[in-house]
Amino acid sequence: MVVDTAQRRLEDMLADLDQAIAVLRSEHPEADQHTADAGASLSATDRAEAALDAMRRERAEVLAALARTRAGTYGKCVDCGRPVPEGRLEARPAAARCVTCQAKHDRFRR
Ligand SMILES: [Zn+2]
Repeated sequence: MVVDTAQRRLEDMLADLDQAIAVLRSEHPEADQHTADAGASLSATDRAEAALDAMRRERAEVLAALARTRAGTYGKCVDCGRPVPEGRLEARPAAARCVTCQAKHDRFRR
C-alpha cells in the first residue's frame, strides 16, 4: 500500500474513533469517570468502559502508525524491521508488527 493511501485511511480511522469515543462518553459519562453508582446499570457501564478502553487502544495504535508514516518507517515491523505483508496492512492499516512478531507479542502479553 502506498504510504499516502495508508495515511489517509489512518486519518479517517482516527476521525471515526474520535467521534465514536465522544458519542460513547456523552452517552455513558459514568463509564469515563469510573464512578458508577450502585443504582446505575453496572453491566451497561462495564460494557461502555470496555468499549472505551478498546477504542482508546486502537486510537493509540492508529496514532503510532501515523507517526511511522511521517518517520518513513511505515509498513516495517516495529520488532524485526522486516516489511509487514501488504495484505495485512490492507486489512489493518495500523498493524505495527508482522504476523510472526505479533503472535509473539500477544503471547507475552497474556
Ligand atoms: Zn516482525
